[in-house]
Amino acid sequence: MKALVLEENGKLKVKHDWSIADAPTEDSVLVKIEACGVCGSDIPRGFQNGAYHYPLVMGHEFSGVVAENREGSSFREGDRVAVFPLIPTNTSEKAYQTGDYAQLREYDYFGSRRDGAFSEFLKVPEANLFHIPEHVNILHASMTEPAAVALHGVRRMHISAGDTGAVIGGGPIGNMTAQWLRIHGCKEVFVIDIDDRKLDIASKMGFKTINSTTTDPVEHILEATRNEGVPRVVEACGLPITFLQAIKIASRAGEIVFMGNIHGEFKINEKDFSSLLRRELTIYGTWNSKVTPKGDDDWSTVLKYMDRELQVAPLISDVVSLDNGPDIFQSILEKKNFHNKVIIKPNLIEKINFAQRKK
Ligand SMILES: [Zn+2]
Repeated sequence: MKALVLEENGKLKVKHDWSIADAPTEDSVLVKIEACGVCGSDIPRGFQNGAYHYPLVMGHEFSGVVAENREGSSFREGDRVAVFPLIPTNTSEKAYQTGDYAQLREYDYFGSRRDGAFSEFLKVPEANLFHIPEHVNILHASMTEPAAVALHGVRRMHISAGDTGAVIGGGPIGNMTAQWLRIHGCKEVFVIDIDDRKLDIASKMGFKTINSTTTDPVEHILEATRNEGVPRVVEACGLPITFLQAIKIASRAGEIVFMGNIHGEFKINEKDFSSLLRRELTIYGTWNSKVTPKGDDDWSTVLKYMDRELQVAPLISDVVSLDNGPDIFQSILEKKNFHNKVIIKPNLIEKINFAQRKK
């Protein structure tokens, strides 16, 4: 089959004779990949020596169609599925028994520890498959994973109807976090970013936007809230300065979720720390998403809300073929073009000429 292969650090190549990876479990079924999103983590993984091994096919945010009828399976050929990328490998771990798979010490992972979905086919354990409801576009369903990560973070908090929220970071996860805050009852949500193109999307969706390169988000929010601050804050950016901003814009008894994976060292001075104590803030960490208990889990919830209250289409900036894989990663690295959510569609044959497209 065709696959976009990371041969070594920084070297992506389209291969036409790549073998479909072995089934991780006996109950695995063959899935024809429909769409796979590029995750922010694929950049350090592919280009900053972040891969577990080489060669590797990356891609862990994906949807597809079941491509075989396996005896005993509850999935049939043609079923549309979203795929949870984490595969538990030790069922005796406590985190397995409590359904907290993201807390497991032993696990396998599509697109990082084993081959992922920048390819035509994958064999997927039945427990990792989620039926895509009829109302959901299958391309959009490839965003179930980041949408579930956003939901999982928001679910840490205790939101009341009418609350005000703020999200620092306006990329796909930040934007979906803002949407989940609204779905959970926040009346007004601020989205803070440095990129006007991301803020434009958020603004069109009805969020209050702040460009922190031109406006101090702390001053702006305190002014807009009569110095009260905001009770529900999510840091979805991952910079030392934005973690501090999150603490500064939280209101008394406010809740803050730290979602961004930090780049750099977080420091806080005595005054800000004391103010954190005085305001009795609660800070939560969040990691990945949950697929249990089935039905109310993050993934099933995302698929119920997607293409209804949760809109992902405005976040998709590029849909490209596998042949365009190396070019699109190059373009993301160069940061010359605007890329928000980039989705690779293995069944697309068209190859865009990036050199010509750049305007
Ligand atoms: Zn990811």
